Amino acid sequence: KQPVTVIGAGLAGTEAAWQIARAGVPVVLYEMRPVQMTPAHHTGEFAELVCSNSFGAKASDRAAGLLHEELRQLGSLVIGTADHHQVPAGGALAVDRGVFSHELTETLANHPLIDLRREEAPAIPQDGIVVLTTGPLTTPALATDLQRFTGMEYMSFFDAASPIVVGDSINLDIAFRASRYDKGDADYINCPMNKEQYLHFWQELCKAEQAELKDFDRETSKFFEACLPIEEMAKRGEDTMRYGPVKPVGLSDPRSENRPYAVVQLRQEDKAGQLWNMVGFQTNLRWGEQKRVFQLIPGLENAEFVRMGVMHRNTFINSPQLLDRTLQFKTRSTLLAAGQLTGTEGYTAATAGGWLAGTNAARLAQGLKPVWLPYTTMMGALFSFISSASPKHFQPMPPNFGILPPFPQKIKSKPERYGKYRDRSLSHLSSWRTRLEVRVPALTT
Ligand code: FAD
Repeated sequence: KQPVTVIGAGLAGTEAAWQIARAGVPVVLYEMRPVQMTPAHHTGEFAELVCSNSFGAKASDRAAGLLHEELRQLGSLVIGTADHHQVPAGGALAVDRGVFSHELTETLANHPLIDLRREEAPAIPQDGIVVLTTGPLTTPALATDLQRFTGMEYMSFFDAASPIVVGDSINLDIAFRASRYDKGDADYINCPMNKEQYLHFWQELCKAEQAELKDFDRETSKFFEACLPIEEMAKRGEDTMRYGPVKPVGLSDPRSENRPYAVVQLRQEDKAGQLWNMVGFQTNLRWGEQKRVFQLIPGLENAEFVRMGVMHRNTFINSPQLLDRTLQFKTRSTLLAAGQLTGTEGYTAATAGGWLAGTNAARLAQGLKPVWLPYTTMMGALFSFISSASPKHFQPMPPNFGILPPFPQKIKSKPERYGKYRDRSLSHLSSWRTRLEVRVPALTT
């Protein structure tokens, strides 16, 4: 059999390569790291989580959780590995990122049907079946070739990552362990602020110096709303952060037994609990300024930062104009794309795209018809959205219940409505699998 070429072993490419190989089709997998790094990745491992270590809410009546569950039912390698390497994170599926990526790398690198090439693919291969999964930081050479192939201008916008601090350097005489509304097992470290401390922090944050954005055009790019830098949020108003990442709801300081005025939360990064990620503190401040301003947060006065926040470019194609719901290009059915490059948003959505593009690439190689998922599933709704939204106003889309077809009768209660969405999705997915004989072998096969 002719091998399928997969370019980029991020979240989407890792899942795609695995699904193709598991179907018995050989794969040539290009990953340029560690020979050539991106501005956001730190290692040469596959499916590296560049910012948060969380795949989002676990509960299957939440949008992210439903997508996890659909992927589990479809035998996703990435979600299966995430399940194995979870760290405590309240109601979220968060992982020990080092172990998680290492295991995925080993699994793919040792697969007899996967031929791994640690080099950049500077252009789209002309022949054969190809899956593009090069993500938001696709190299300029490949981006230029993609631009030539599609004849379109790219859209780009800003995205940012939060700092990580050493757990031992957090002052636990001030900060306290708890989960919001006591969900989970006191999984977060919380830094409480009174009004005076908050206002001082807010003012300093607003005037802190930002790093230069050399390679982007500020005029034409936009911020990624879901990953807005904390300083940009601060500039939107005195209380904007208090309704966002530093909201105090569901938390009370065990020392005063009062609800603080604002709370900065830190989420565990690694299994050993040595590293803590500042939740929602994506930033583009200069590194010295990050240290100065974030050390004003009570409990972080002596915080040791192991990774400062960074900002980066995000690139995506105009999928509604270019892709089918099968993730094939309309003008070349042997070329498929998945992940952030197609305008889905987040780790789990990229994994889902990798599953579909990989499954369809394998089917094409086997002379079978490509498939698409029912619109009533989160995966089906997401790929339907990116392939049929208005091309003029297309913006990346995270998994959410708003893209699912509503029920004929209105269901007012949100928990009830989301529960029904979940039940409908999982039942339709199950009959779809039976109908199409989409078999899901165990992860080890
Ligand atoms: P990636 O995971 O980026 O994988 C693309 C791969 O392609 C990389 O390994 C890259 O090295 C490789 N590559 C690129 N070009 C070439 C080439 N020409 N040849 C060979 N290999 C190539 N999502 C979240 O859910 N939560 C977050 O907190 C979050 N924060 C982010 C912060 C930053 C700084 C960035 C950059 C992104 C963030 N995202 C976050 C979005 C995140 O990138 C995606 O959710 C996810 O990684 C997308 O998966 P992907 O497979 O599409 O791309």
